[in-house]
This record gives sequence, structure tokens and C-alpha cells, in this order.
Amino acid sequence: MPYREVAPKHGVCPRCFAALAGWSAIPGVFYCGTCGGVMADNAASKRIVETLDHTLLDIGFRASLGRSVEPDTTRIVSCPDCLADMKRVEVASAACEVDVCAEHGTWFDAGELETVMRAYRHQRARGASRVPAPPSATPLDDLLADSFRPA
Ligand SMILES: [Zn+2]
Ligand SMILES: [Zn+2]
Repeated sequence: MPYREVAPKHGVCPRCFAALAGWSAIPGVFYCGTCGGVMADNAASKRIVETLDHTLLDIGFRASLGRSVEPDTTRIVSCPDCLADMKRVEVASAACEVDVCAEHGTWFDAGELETVMRAYRHQRARGASRVPAPPSATPLDDLLADSFRPA
């Protein structure tokens, strides 16, 4: 099915309010060239925790390369789609916090996308040798699971 790229409705960086840009390589991923943050919709967020997707890694890397603003990451951010407050979710294995809208996806501040992807890769590597599956599902896992639970 052809995918038409649709910018978030409001299309503005929740950190620094610059316009978010899409990335043609991956649908559902938008980045801010000013502060280096990345917004990933739920499908893309799932890829982030399930695979070490090199295109996604590259997006995180390139988005943070050109940043010119150090955002205030202590502020609660609004979802770029629905403007509701995003939920702070600790990713314990990555020692960072991301911001999640259960409806629309996850916001990663500059550098967090790569940090989270690498942490999940380590977690998968450790979990592979463990029986049963590791009990340490992070809140991000839970939220993503909620997002993908059939209605
Ligand atoms: Zn920004
Ligand atoms: Zn939202």
C-alpha cells in the first residue's frame, strides 16, 4: 500500500516550537533540525524497541548533528499531533526518559533515540539466553503494548 507522508497536524516541535520535518526514508518519523529531537509514531516506536533499525539510528544521529538549541528537557511537552501533555516514561535500561502520547507516539530528545535503541538491543541480547522471558518490561514496553492491543 503506498504511504502518503502526512506531517503531524500541528507539526511543531514540542521542545522549541520549530517546524518538524518528515523523513522520506521512514514514514511516521519527524525531526526537529533546531533541537535535534525526534517524534516517532507508534508503528515507528515499535520498530525502535524491536529492532536496531539503521535507518532510524541514522535519523537520530543526523537530527542531533545540526541542532543549535539546547532544549529545556525538564518541561512536560505537548504531543505535536493532539497537543495533550505527553507522559514521561522512564526507560530504565537506557537511563533516560522519553515522552509518550499513547495515541500518537513517542518524543525523543536529541540523542535519546540512539540511546534507547542501543539499550533495547542489549536487553534483547540478555533476554535471549534467559528462560522464561525477562520480567523486566519497561513502562515504554507497556505503553507500546497498550497502543497495539486490538480494540
Ligand atoms: Zn526542537
Ligand atoms: Zn497525541
